[in-house]
Amino acid sequence: SYRARSAFKLLEVDERFKIFAPGQVVVDLGASPGSWCQVAVKKVNAITPAECIADRNEPTLVHVLDERVRLAAEALPKRGVKVLANLTPVMEKPLIHPTHGLVIGVDLLDILPYPGAVFLPHSDFTKGKTKRKILEQLAGRPVDVVLSDMAPNASGISQLDHEAIVGLCTEALRFGVTVLREGGTFLCKIWTGSGDQALRALLRTHFAVVRNVKPPASRDESSELYLLGTGFKGLPQQPVE
Ligand code: SAM
Repeated sequence: SYRARSAFKLLEVDERFKIFAPGQVVVDLGASPGSWCQVAVKKVNAITPAECIADRNEPTLVHVLDERVRLAAEALPKRGVKVLANLTPVMEKPLIHPTHGLVIGVDLLDILPYPGAVFLPHSDFTKGKTKRKILEQLAGRPVDVVLSDMAPNASGISQLDHEAIVGLCTEALRFGVTVLREGGTFLCKIWTGSGDQALRALLRTHFAVVRNVKPPASRDESSELYLLGTGFKGLPQQPVE
């Protein structure tokens, strides 16, 4: 069962637009209590660092970072899994299966652990420190999908709330374009208002297709809308001197 009803909104978006595939890397901003991560973990077949090493003898493994394997080595005995004796060479060339995705969930609030997801709780996404923590977890892996279901505490003054959520989306987008792979996907929640057009225009500069999506599960929240950008164009090349 899902931790929140929001799961169904994401499932509906994926049903229509097929945003997830096994092996993908997903960053979920505003992840607590964790239902979007539950969906993403299943869709991309994500594993936590502790699980990477269990696959180390498979022929189709690819490399990720040393830190993850070090963490895995530390975590496995606690989970009752035997760490293989020749771990040291593997630690120099850490390994992960290409069909295994990575899901990183970030929130200001606490998030209960969920197998397969890496959580950064008590983390304000607008802070540089949080962005650095995300980059550490990514360790250079390009991101396939950036999700933002972040919502500020509603003041009840719709213009202020609108501006606050558009601010969060804009920040998510600015970060997203630095980590997404070409062709990648960005999905964010807004409460509609006067800033929608500017945000959509910004999305259009980065994505081949930008859609307004109103999942049926979101029908009750009248001003809520998701913006979906697909086909990330990549960052413009710096001109060569
Ligand atoms: N998608 C989540 C799920 O399915 O479980 C629900 C997300 S909830 C609607 C919005 C979340 O955004 C809240 O948990 C809130 O703490 C978080 N949030 C708001 N501002 C944030 C920020 N600056 N940094 C990180 N999280 C933030």
